[in-house]
Amino acid sequence: MPRRRLSKLEDLDLNNIVSAQFDEAAAFLNYPRGLLEEIKCCDNVFAVNFPVRFGNRYHIFQGWRAEHSHHRKPLKGGIRFNPMVDQSEIIALAALMTYKCAIVDVPFGGSKGGVALDPATYNDTELEKITRRYTAELIRKGFIGPGINVPAPDMGTGEREMAWIFDTYDAFYPGGIDNLACVTGKPVTQGGIRGRKEATGRGVQYGIRHFFYYTEDIKTLGLSPGLEGKRVSLQGFGNVGAHCARFLSQEDDCRIVALSERDGAIIKPEGIDIEALARHRNETGSIRDFPGAQTVADPKAALEVDCDILIPAALENQITAANANRVRARIVAEAANGPVSREAEKILLKKGVAIIPDIYLNAGGVTVSYFEWSKNLAHMRYGRLQHRLERMRGQEIVEFLETTTGSQIPHRTQQVLVHGADEIELVNSGLEGTMVDAYEQIRMVFKRRRRLPSLRTAAYIVAIDKIATAYRELGIFP
Ligand code: GLU
Repeated sequence: MPRRRLSKLEDLDLNNIVSAQFDEAAAFLNYPRGLLEEIKCCDNVFAVNFPVRFGNRYHIFQGWRAEHSHHRKPLKGGIRFNPMVDQSEIIALAALMTYKCAIVDVPFGGSKGGVALDPATYNDTELEKITRRYTAELIRKGFIGPGINVPAPDMGTGEREMAWIFDTYDAFYPGGIDNLACVTGKPVTQGGIRGRKEATGRGVQYGIRHFFYYTEDIKTLGLSPGLEGKRVSLQGFGNVGAHCARFLSQEDDCRIVALSERDGAIIKPEGIDIEALARHRNETGSIRDFPGAQTVADPKAALEVDCDILIPAALENQITAANANRVRARIVAEAANGPVSREAEKILLKKGVAIIPDIYLNAGGVTVSYFEWSKNLAHMRYGRLQHRLERMRGQEIVEFLETTTGSQIPHRTQQVLVHGADEIELVNSGLEGTMVDAYEQIRMVFKRRRRLPSLRTAAYIVAIDKIATAYRELGIFP
């Protein structure tokens, strides 16, 4: 049954929230109303009830795939397996995909899919059957294909499900030379790309790093420059949260002071060892009772902890009018889609908190999906052609410098020069460049148009401008 997300304090329907965010940005622009409506509306939605047989019983599952915008093709977005999904949420998430892709210059329209189920209550064989049948339904209605619509992982799905999707598609279209590009987020051995699994977490790290590049902005927030030693609290220790926590603590020397999962939160002001926590969760099935940390039953406790950067990396509507006043962070970095409600945003902005918006910050996943899709169409691993050439060139430079200067080049510099980039380095540097460029665009809009309420509005303006240009170039609007 579709649910309306209503609280006593505000409307928490994600579709209404995204729509209001869009309208807020559109009010600053001078496009014809029809064009804005075309950008905002969801083009089409496929809703399906499909049966899967387990033993003697049939289970009926409800699934969707929303196609928000066809201004670029194929359309792109994850598939969510979660008991709470409904059509309205899928439409909202598809819209976020459109804006996200535009912001990071990934040439796709936005889409999203979902099946209402709790993956924890099915075994592997059952999940495989469900995934394959859902894929068959998408094929039947033309909602999947390398040039049409390309799914990816999202909440409740991962590499394994993407491999099943590819295999099902491949069985329907045997011999299709570009079949691998029908889905991204596949295992590396099945046409996936190195770095895709960590990509959303990496993108969040790069986004936060670049946010800290502007010392004047950081000082305005009352923080000292530099990420080192910054206290971070994370909600969610899934694929996004766990990678993000690992990268920020191990590579940027942030202190992870709190972390929460569905079944509770842990707090440790001196900093949580993320590797040890991952081991603890593997052994016990939960982050609770992690030695040396305080365990709190309420998972939302991590949102209210004293910290510098709060990273909601789980579900939508986690910070609402009900708890926004208790948020003590100076920066809210939205790794999840839609974690901050409209009312909460107003409260946070009033308190002077900076919100790094989801449509920018969590775009790392789709960015690397784009790299994977292009790799699949090229039928070649990144770096393969130039790897040896780069090494040889570096060697030449080292030898030339050493003979002409008569001194030896330091070992580290030599290593950097005599090195051919491999796939993971190319992916990460492409991702970092993408996150940096996108933030530059958003910040420039934010600084130039002085009346904008938030970076989110600036990000929407960047997205709307690009999509409007695409529609105009298609000759659809004057
Ligand atoms: N599900 C991810 C997202 O919400 C990734 C989508 C993709 O890679 O297509 O951005």
